[in-house]
Amino acid sequence: MPNSPLLSVITPAYEEEDNLHEMHERLCRVLEGANLSFEWIIVDDCSGDKTYAVAREIAAGDPRVKILRLARNFGSHAAILCGLSKCRGHNGVVMAADLQDPPEAIPSLLEERKNNAEIVWAVREQRLGESFFTLASSRIFYWLMRTVVGLKNFPANGADFFLVSRKVIDVLMQFRERNVNVFALLMWIGYSQAQVTYDKQARKSGRSGWTFRQKVSLLIDSIVSFSFAPVRLLAIMGIFTTFGGFIYALTITVRAMFGIIPVDGWSSLMVVVLLFGGATLTMTGVLGEYVWRILVEARGRPAFIVDQFVGFEKDEQNPVGKTESDRG
Ligand code: UDP
Ligand code: MG
Repeated sequence: MPNSPLLSVITPAYEEEDNLHEMHERLCRVLEGANLSFEWIIVDDCSGDKTYAVAREIAAGDPRVKILRLARNFGSHAAILCGLSKCRGHNGVVMAADLQDPPEAIPSLLEERKNNAEIVWAVREQRLGESFFTLASSRIFYWLMRTVVGLKNFPANGADFFLVSRKVIDVLMQFRERNVNVFALLMWIGYSQAQVTYDKQARKSGRSGWTFRQKVSLLIDSIVSFSFAPVRLLAIMGIFTTFGGFIYALTITVRAMFGIIPVDGWSSLMVVVLLFGGATLTMTGVLGEYVWRILVEARGRPAFIVDQFVGFEKDEQNPVGKTESDRG
């Protein structure tokens, strides 16, 4: 029996029935091969397929496998937070269930952790089997994260596979945010962070659980949770339009005084009305994005709700977060 510090592998899974067995085999091969003791927490994000049944099958034959089934689909970021909140390991590795992130890369993450990095990112060297649209939109996303949001260390190719130390997990669990991009939050946290590279594989089976709408929503969440730039832009636009309006008024007055063209007609009015109307609506919309998030945070609903626990002690089974005994 290996007596290394426990490693928790956390996997959010949404409709991944065909991938879990292979993932289990590969995890065991790699981690047993490296003589590591580990637990594997599968967070079933309320899949409609047989993901939960398959996970139970695996857990029945391997006591290191634990399952959390969420009460509804909360999205992968909430699923990751849920898994992290219930894990017991000295270190936690978060990786997707679709085998795009190879379990074989875990030892190199742990190696980097030995150099005292608290967060180790597995950064994609290459992405295999993705469409042009996916690649382009993810490039734009990470570019925005680095420029607008100011998380300068965000890798250009993105990262969705990482290792965090117990210290980081405990800090993360004290955050109360709901609409948040876990990756951006981890970049923001600081500490010493390191990177290792790997080739992101094509999806083994099934399809990406992300819809276009979810991607847009993640993008907006990522920007407004970390940056006030959009609000500042509003104020600057406001100042410029006011200034523009003032100049326009001045021009009309001067032209009228010198009798060049007495009245400019209704078209100029329409231009002003549309311009200002549009600008005001946009500004209200951007403010609204911040305001409704304040409402969500103020309501303080949990980021996730667990429906079923498999492999957890009775006192660990708090459906909405950590129990006192978990914290101790
Ligand atoms: N996932 C999840 N809930 C969702 C969507 C996805 O838990 O609503 C999981 C999914 O099963 C996978 C991980 O999150 O293990 C990454 O998702 P996916 O592979 O769909 O994302 P992509 O690789 O396209 O970024
Ligand atoms: Mg994937």
